[in-house]
Amino acid sequence: MTTSVAPPITPFRLFGLTVLRTRRLGPSMLRVTFGGPGLDGFAAGGRDQSLSLFLPHPGQPEPVVPVDDEGNWFAAWRALPDNVRAVMRSYTVRTQRRTHDGATEIDIDFALHEDGGPACRWAAAASPGDPLKALGPAIEDNTAVRFRPPQDTDWVLIWADETALPAASAALEWLPSGMKARVWLEVQHTEDRQALNTAARARITWLVRDEGAPVGLEAVRAAELPEGTPYVWIAGESSQVRALRRHLVQERRLDRRRVTFVGYWRRGMSEEQLREAAATADA
Ligand SMILES: Cc1cc2nc3c(=O)[nH]c(=O)nc-3n(C[C@H](O)[C@H](O)[C@H](O)COP(=O)(O)OP(=O)(O)OC[C@H]3O[C@@H](n4cnc5c(N)ncnc54)[C@H](O)[C@@H]3O)c2cc1C
Repeated sequence: MTTSVAPPITPFRLFGLTVLRTRRLGPSMLRVTFGGPGLDGFAAGGRDQSLSLFLPHPGQPEPVVPVDDEGNWFAAWRALPDNVRAVMRSYTVRTQRRTHDGATEIDIDFALHEDGGPACRWAAAASPGDPLKALGPAIEDNTAVRFRPPQDTDWVLIWADETALPAASAALEWLPSGMKARVWLEVQHTEDRQALNTAARARITWLVRDEGAPVGLEAVRAAELPEGTPYVWIAGESSQVRALRRHLVQERRLDRRRVTFVGYWRRGMSEEQLREAAATADA
């Protein structure tokens, strides 16, 4: 007797993305909506679902990521010169939805920053029809979803800067009804604040750098936190994330195993430089 076993689905694979439209959400944030047949099979897990975008260099009609018949791409991509191979950047799937005709669309929110790296520049110039590639999820339950409060969580603490605002907003949408949440969202301008949807009992404080009130660690340090067992998720500029984690674990004595912290970018370093620094530290 023969039994047939379905081949395992790899959790991440390359997808083709086509820009459908863009929308300014505020002075510092641009939403790019992607669609197209290349998104078939895309399966975001919500919350802080991240993906790697592959962007073209200026003058290239599309990002260069050579893929063989088996779907392998990494070695060939790495072997190309820096100024040819597509630029890789990490972003968050803010929303995935199905349209009335069954097509898949995703939104990615780009924080536009003055240092303007390749991703920021690409987004600012994006227009309908532009092609991108992404290494993204083909299974909803995948390791690029890091926001995972343990079962016994009584309340959730979230701190995010503008780069992690898409992830924090999606995590708030996902939280169960009635869950207590203490949330700090840091942005540059008053108009960068967004309307948020949540069924959680969330107390949300917008930290607006332009307004001159305490932000980052200073704001969190001054707060009285709820009683009970917390789950903490902090993401944004690396040195701020590290300082907040240190405060919560060393000064507030929160259990480090219940703290998810992710450096989304580091001041003065591009994502390549950040990856190189991390690889050197690990070696
Ligand atoms: C898991 C994960 C998810 C992420 N999700 C998002 C997301 O949904 N939306 C989003 O906007 N970003 C997100 N980021 C952050 C984003 O990947 C970085 O901001 C990235 O550096 C932007 O690439 P770039 O090409 O514009 O700039 P780079 O070429 O990487 O950097 C160029 C310069 O700009 C500086 N820089 C980078 N970002 C900022 C910033 N926000 N403000 C000020 N200076 C900056 C760098 O320090 C450097 O000096 C995420 C990062 C990770 C790791």
